[in-house]
Amino acid sequence: MEWEYEIPFKLKDPSLLRQRSYVDGEWVDAQSGKCFDVIDPGTGKHWASVADNDPSDVNAAVESSYAAFQTYRRINPKIRAKLLLRWNDLITEAKEDIARIVTYETGKPLAESLAEVDYALGFTWFFTGEAERIHGTVSVPSAPNRRNFTVKQPIGVAVALVPWNFPVAMILRKAGAALAAGCTMVIKPSPETPLSVLALVHLASRAGFEKGVLNVLTTSLENTPALSEALCKHPLVSKVTFTGSTKVGKLIARHCSEGLKKVTLELGGNCPFLIFDDANLKQSVDALIALKWRHAGQACITANRVYIQKGVFGQVEQMLIDETRKIKVGHGIETETTMGPVTTPRGIEKVECQIKDAQKHGGTVLTGGKKPYGLPGYFFEPTIISNMKPEMLISREETFGPILSLYKFETEDEVVDLANKTSMGLASYFFTKDVDRTWRLLENLEAGMVGMNTGPMSAAESPFGGIKESGYGKESGKDVAVDAYLITKTGTMTLE
Ligand code: NAD
Repeated sequence: MEWEYEIPFKLKDPSLLRQRSYVDGEWVDAQSGKCFDVIDPGTGKHWASVADNDPSDVNAAVESSYAAFQTYRRINPKIRAKLLLRWNDLITEAKEDIARIVTYETGKPLAESLAEVDYALGFTWFFTGEAERIHGTVSVPSAPNRRNFTVKQPIGVAVALVPWNFPVAMILRKAGAALAAGCTMVIKPSPETPLSVLALVHLASRAGFEKGVLNVLTTSLENTPALSEALCKHPLVSKVTFTGSTKVGKLIARHCSEGLKKVTLELGGNCPFLIFDDANLKQSVDALIALKWRHAGQACITANRVYIQKGVFGQVEQMLIDETRKIKVGHGIETETTMGPVTTPRGIEKVECQIKDAQKHGGTVLTGGKKPYGLPGYFFEPTIISNMKPEMLISREETFGPILSLYKFETEDEVVDLANKTSMGLASYFFTKDVDRTWRLLENLEAGMVGMNTGPMSAAESPFGGIKESGYGKESGKDVAVDAYLITKTGTMTLE
C-alpha cells in the first residue's frame, strides 16, 4: 500500500506514520485490501488512508494476542515495568511528532495535543510502578490446619475500543494498565484517529514488547459495528474496555454478555457545573473557560450545564462572554489558535440541532451560534446560550461541542435536584467557599467524580469513571485500574 496523499506536515521521525494495521509483529493490509480515508477536520480534506479491516481480520489479531499472552503473563513484572518505562521514554522523545498527528486527526490546537501527550505519559509512568505491586492476600484460617489465600493473575486477552477525542490518553490509560497486569491487548482505534494509535504501537514494538502483545485493527466507520461485535464475541477474548457514547456502550455490554466477558464502560457525560453566590468568581470563570473550550467542548468531563446562583448571575454571564470573545478559532496547527474545529461533521449537526431547539424553547444566544465565515473545516463559533430550561435538548443530552449553556438558580436544594436530573453521572463541579456546603454537595451530587473549586480533575493516580448511564468500572488510580485486568483466584490448603 503506497501513501497516496501529500502529508500536510513534517515529522522528525517519519517512520511514525503507518498506514497498515499491526498484527503479530507485522504491518499488514486488511484481507480485503481496502482502505479508508483520514480527514483533517481543520480543512475537511483527506490526508491519509489506512487499512479498513472487517470481521474477517479479527481472528488473526486475537489469536496472536492469545499466543503472546501465554508468554507475556509469565514474565517477571520487573521486565514488564522496564518495557513500559522504555515505551514511556520513546513516547516522550517523539511527543512533538505525536502531537502533530493528533492535531491533524482531531483538529485540536497543537498546544492541547502536546498537553494530551504529557497527560497520557502520566499513565505509562504510573503503571510502570504498578506492574510490581500486584498482591494477593492471606486470611486468618477458619480451622487450625487450614490456609486460605488469594492470588491475582492477568485475565487474558483484552480488547480496547476507543474514541477519537483523546486518542493518546485513552490508549495509554487502557494499554498501560493491561500491560502492567500481564495481559495482551487488541486495540480498535476510532476511524477518525487511527494514525496516532499506530504511532504509539510502533513505539511499543521499538520498546521491545514481543509480537502479539499489542495488536491494532484499524477500521472505517462502516465496518466499525461488525468488527467491534466480532472482537467482543471472540471466545479467546476475556476482557473488553470501551470508552465512548452511552448508546454504543450499551450495545457493547450486550455483545459481551453472551460470553459473560468482564467489561469496563467509560461513557458519556452531561456534567453540571455549579457557581454559588459566595464563590471566587474569577477562579470559577477561569476554570469553566479552560474546561469548556478545551478541544471545542469535546471532552466527556466537560461542563454541559452551568448553574449560576441568582445574586451573581449577571456578573458571571458577562465575564464568560468577555472571556469567550477572546477565543481565536482556527486550524490547530496555527500558533495563535486557541480553539480548533470539532472533529466530525456529525458534531456540527448536533450542535446546530441543540441550538435550534434551545431557541425554540426561549433560549437566548449571547455570543456565537453559527459557523465562522470563511473557514473550510468543521468549525463552529464558541457559543453561549442563556435562559436555559430543563426541557431543552441540551439539558437532557450531552452536547460534545462548543456550547456553554447557562441556568439561573436560587437555592442549594433546587440546584442539586436540577444537577442530578439526568441519566448520566460522570463528573460534577461546584464553586463555593462554604465548607459545610462542600461536604453536602460532595455527598449529594450523583457523579463518579466531583470537582470542588476546580476544573481539571483527571490524573493517573485517581480513579476515573462514572455512575448511572455514564458506565461502570474505573480506569487509572491505585488498586482499581490494574485490578480491572486481573482475576482473583482463591487457594485453600489443608496441612497434615
Ligand atoms: P462512539 O460511541 O461513537 O465511539 C466510541 C468507539 O466505539 C469508537 O471506537 C467507535 O468507532 C466505536 N463505535 C461506534 N459505533 C459503534 C457501533 N455501532 N458498534 C461498535 N462500536 C462502535 O463515541 P465517540 O463519538 O467516538 O466519542 C464521544 C463519546 O465518548 C461521548 O459520549 C463522550 O462523552 C464519550 N467519552 C467518554 C469518556 C469517558 O472516559 N467516560 C472519555 C472520552 C469520551
